[in-house]
Amino acid sequence: MAYRWETPASVWQEDDRSGEFELLSTEGLGRIDWQAHARGRLPDVAHLLGASLPDACGCAPIYPEGFAWCPHCGSALRRLAGRAARTPDWWGPHGDHQLPRHVPHGLPVTSLPLGDSLEERPAPPAVGRHDLSMPVPPNAQCVFAAATYGFPEQRLLALAHTRGVLQYWDPLARLWHVMAPEEGAAELAFTRSDYAWLPVLNPGRGEVAVVPAAHSLQRLWINPLSETYRTETVLAAPPAASPGAMRRHTACPVLGDGGALLLWTTRGELPAGEQFDCADAPTAGWSRPIGYDGRLFWLHEDGQLVWRPGEAPRWMRWPAPWTPRLAFGGPTQSRDGRLWLIGHDGEAYSFLELGAADPQREPIDGARLGFANLLFRRGHPVLDEPWSGEHVEDPNEDETLVLPLLRSFNNNRSQPSGLVLRFHRYTGRAEEALSSKLIARTTVEWIGRRNVILDEIARLARPLECVPLVYDNCLWLHHPDWNQMRGWRLDDAA
Ligand SMILES: [Zn+2]
Repeated sequence: MAYRWETPASVWQEDDRSGEFELLSTEGLGRIDWQAHARGRLPDVAHLLGASLPDACGCAPIYPEGFAWCPHCGSALRRLAGRAARTPDWWGPHGDHQLPRHVPHGLPVTSLPLGDSLEERPAPPAVGRHDLSMPVPPNAQCVFAAATYGFPEQRLLALAHTRGVLQYWDPLARLWHVMAPEEGAAELAFTRSDYAWLPVLNPGRGEVAVVPAAHSLQRLWINPLSETYRTETVLAAPPAASPGAMRRHTACPVLGDGGALLLWTTRGELPAGEQFDCADAPTAGWSRPIGYDGRLFWLHEDGQLVWRPGEAPRWMRWPAPWTPRLAFGGPTQSRDGRLWLIGHDGEAYSFLELGAADPQREPIDGARLGFANLLFRRGHPVLDEPWSGEHVEDPNEDETLVLPLLRSFNNNRSQPSGLVLRFHRYTGRAEEALSSKLIARTTVEWIGRRNVILDEIARLARPLECVPLVYDNCLWLHHPDWNQMRGWRLDDAA
């Protein structure tokens, strides 16, 4: 004989001989194969559901949500319901939707006040070391999200977007699980352009994001109990680039029936929408969308696609022979609020005004790396206009090259702060440092009110593959070549 227990979100069955509880169903998660899957993962499952765990007795390994006492012996239980602290979401360095409107969205800028705790560390010449490490996901070329997906606790996902493999971190077992597609789930790989997803503001249980896939835009749902995922088609057209959002509008460049580019746009609820013809524009190789000044920008080696909701999109080629240096970072702002992109006209570098039919150009005398006003000329910050002379505090930094990874936006600060890599004894071309070159010594640094050397990396290649993320009150740095991610504790990221 078995007893049924119903909680607001779940139905459990108690086996009267063993005294153990089996989860029959829970809101939003479909079929649950409790015996086959969940058994080894009960602590994680209990935290995800807000269920209870044994504390003083061993009568059962898990109890339904809200149970305060063991029904068999009366011992107190560990009630997890309502215990989870609210932690800020992380949707990738490009995915902060909490930024104010005057900061470009879609660049590696976070609104989390990382400097407040990182700047407490010893100042140079002290060279720090990461506090924690965590295994890299088995498919290491990936994008990360840390969010609740409608559950009480935050969990980390790593999507290997070139292979379409979704990986889930069980923080209690300290293991990555590869999630299996449920029957009919769409292929998740997307390689046509840079990868970006659209997070859901008030997710249902298991709801992750709207994601670009090879043949369609999909809404992704996870079932962390069965370690599976499913998808729902949002738009049945192949995306040419990642989707972007501007206030209540969403837009995505897609391939039309004849293979030419269309911009699909919608206001409010997906998927109703309007389409615009962009037949001359390329069908692959786009940057992630950048939202600024009421417009969305997709950048390409050949030009820019610019869309303001309510208007037709514009595809504008770069003025020949100027070509962009997209690998240097991304757009940056001038003091009057215009957006600029660095490039080269065959003779010299210059900044080109974005979004203008007849763009202004500002010449510069060398490469500058960065984005969103976190900009460096070799080892020196550029503080005024993007084309202003660099600020030389220490002439020795001429022999270093700084690559900004993540800016931390903070309204109270006049100078940009953020996470950077500094390549030491490097006087070669910036293009080579970012592509083929193996860099003997790199330091991971925090630039802020106080600069801090967080760590040191020997023999770094392909530095643009470094991915910063914030999860579990830690700043992490991931590189597909490493066995471990490096983590630095934050006091309180919220
Ligand atoms: Zn008991």
